[in-house]
Amino acid sequence: MEKADIKSFYNNELEELLITLGEKPFRARQIYSWLHVKHATSFEQMTDLSKKLKEILIDRCSITVLRQERLQCSKADGTRKYLFALEDGNMVESVWMKYRHGNSVCISSQAGCRMGCRFCASALGGLVRNLTAGEMLEQVYRIQEDTGERVSHVVVMGTGEPLDNYDNFLRFVRLLSDKKGANISQRNITASTCGIVPNIRRLAEEKLQITLALSLHAPSQEKRLSLMPVAKKYDIQEVLGACRDYFASTGRRITFEYSLMGGVNDSGEDARQLARLLKGMNCHVNLIPVNPVDERDYRQPSPQRVSNFKNNLEKYGINVTIRREMGRDIDGACGQLRKRYLKREAGIL
Ligand code: SAH
Repeated sequence: MEKADIKSFYNNELEELLITLGEKPFRARQIYSWLHVKHATSFEQMTDLSKKLKEILIDRCSITVLRQERLQCSKADGTRKYLFALEDGNMVESVWMKYRHGNSVCISSQAGCRMGCRFCASALGGLVRNLTAGEMLEQVYRIQEDTGERVSHVVVMGTGEPLDNYDNFLRFVRLLSDKKGANISQRNITASTCGIVPNIRRLAEEKLQITLALSLHAPSQEKRLSLMPVAKKYDIQEVLGACRDYFASTGRRITFEYSLMGGVNDSGEDARQLARLLKGMNCHVNLIPVNPVDERDYRQPSPQRVSNFKNNLEKYGINVTIRREMGRDIDGACGQLRKRYLKREAGIL
């Protein structure tokens, strides 16, 4: 019998489990707190449980624990980049960033990704598998234990497409924001998607308070299609329609991510088109100079061109910021650490 992944259980599911084991349901609260507040890694650590109960739990359940495989720390800004080994040997990466408003962790939602965005390092090896809710939580918990500092913000912007792993992602958000658990406010959780329309609509119905970041990267369907294969399935207008509805049903302003690639999507005309596309929407545009990936030849526009693009958008009344680059000296770019590790394993590096 496969053991139950207890870190992915909601408290009420834990209660049900304990009842079926002939135990008192209030034990669930104790176990839940060991897992999600004290970040216990084994049942032995749960000192307020009876020996008998611990034995039963060891027999029936497993506790997902990630092993820290590598850590790179930026001397420039304190950013910490972690490579974690999952229990089956797959690798994921997560990043810790210190801001004035608190500590933010960027987590991965899948091992690999099948969305195939042309500029993205994580697309290169394809999808290996979905992460469980427990494995997503563990990235936050291990980093919190390692730094000894509370994590206040979580962004799901690492490897993977969260809306391609919908059920586990939703469970993760609910567990992460549970007051009896990690208690990270939903308003401090951001999930980034390449635009899987039916699942944006489904997410809107869950009435969460998380921020949705939409990877737009182009001002037209044609250009977007040349960068993101997902646009074949969901047209840019359909995606924007789903974003408008997300805002209407949650009241949460959408963030549009726009990765600037020199000579590809960074002209004055691109800015004008983008402004027209987003006209009247309650949104925010985040400009990210592309992180160059070895296998791809996209390059960053000059700082002057980036700031021209921003000024252009502002002229049209669009709310826009340029994302500050963090951890540039430590493979800060998306998916680079994992990719380098995989290449080394394969003897390519
Ligand atoms: N699958 C999700 C989340 C993962 S990527 C999504 O597509 O949104 C998080 C963000 O980084 C996305 O906006 C993605 O398009 C962007 N990104 C990926 N590779 C990049 C690169 N090389 N340079 C800049 N941004 C990149």
